[in-house]
Amino acid sequence: MLIIVTLVATVVAIHREEEDNMSMQKSYCKQMRYSGPESLAPSDATKFDVLIQMEVLAGCNHGCLGCFVDKNIDPAMNQMIIDRAKELTDGIKRTGLNLREFVIGPTDFFTATNTESVLNNSVVQEIMREHTGARIAAPAKFDLATMDKVKEIFAVLDDEDKYRREMIIEFIMPIGRVEQMLNDDEYFNSVMEKVEFFKNNTPKQMDWSWTLQASNVVGKKIDKETYNKIVQKSVHEYGTIVEMNPAFARAPNQIIQRKNLFGWNDFLGRVIDKDNAQETVMSMANLYCNSINFVGLTIVPGENGPTTHLNVMLHEQAFFLGNKNLDVTGLTFEEILERKNELVTKGINKSSKVSDCADCKFAVACASRLIFEAQESLNIDGCVMNKDVLDQYNPTDWTWNDDAMEKLGAIS
Ligand code: SF4
Repeated sequence: MLIIVTLVATVVAIHREEEDNMSMQKSYCKQMRYSGPESLAPSDATKFDVLIQMEVLAGCNHGCLGCFVDKNIDPAMNQMIIDRAKELTDGIKRTGLNLREFVIGPTDFFTATNTESVLNNSVVQEIMREHTGARIAAPAKFDLATMDKVKEIFAVLDDEDKYRREMIIEFIMPIGRVEQMLNDDEYFNSVMEKVEFFKNNTPKQMDWSWTLQASNVVGKKIDKETYNKIVQKSVHEYGTIVEMNPAFARAPNQIIQRKNLFGWNDFLGRVIDKDNAQETVMSMANLYCNSINFVGLTIVPGENGPTTHLNVMLHEQAFFLGNKNLDVTGLTFEEILERKNELVTKGINKSSKVSDCADCKFAVACASRLIFEAQESLNIDGCVMNKDVLDQYNPTDWTWNDDAMEKLGAIS
């Protein structure tokens, strides 16, 4: 009897291990392409997903070109930030919405001085236990991390008293030196050694992707040929996607923010065409992507305690600390949803007064993504996107009105 039970247990264990390995072996390209808001079908458009981003990590060993991240966040404020995240995630539960991503940043997950202390925090663990659909996402230069460091951090994450076995972790890896990413074999092996570890040595479900930041491209003039090489190398050799995460709102002043935004839009216009558009994931470029229903919140240390800010979907999640409308410090989650609705309505009203936007088919999507607050924050009275690029992702103008008009026979 004991032998049969042991045998059954062994078979179940092997089967589970095989299943785990199978799910781990899935292509990161496919996983990452459908892991964002675009994974929700249009019929689920009322299912708001929520992203909470905590700025709690301090210190970083890397001197990435053009990095605007504050590396000296006061760890003394961490517990208050984490407690605020818990208040908000409790609100997500109350309102029946879905916590999709819990971002732990802003510095490198593997060289910040306090990553383990944040992961060992019981409130952080409680949040991740209560929201079984949520993933931890983190900026991570795992290309440069030592295997010892990776193992140290995974010893915490893989402790099942602390985190769910099957929890998803997503690493967002900024592309550093393009030449190295493309042509250095030693570098390639160092990245793939970690990827193998994610696949075979941890039960966690891992996602990872490269990200291009504004600092990578603005001023450095990555041309179309290099851009295509980056995408091809990523998809066919590293086995994952390239995402766009310009992060220009982190720049220290409005002039640099504007310069980076326009530089970024120029860059997209130069490198994206109909042949490569689908290779790069730009959630918000799709007019019908559910990112219009996304609620993103960032909690940062302020002078008198943490402050909370509604994110704008300007290419990617961006926050503008100086914009009072987006400052939702002290509000309950329900009040934050009301604030967001007011700002969407305000944006729709404003769109008719901005000449670029008045007849633009993206106006409602831009309002829903709080783009008009970005216009206000950056003092730009016009388009802040590259409409030619958006057109690549929306080849047909299927707006409801045109559809309805067609049905009514008003247009053929
Ligand atoms: S910001 Fe640009 S894309 Fe958005 S509504 Fe205005 S003109 Fe259209």
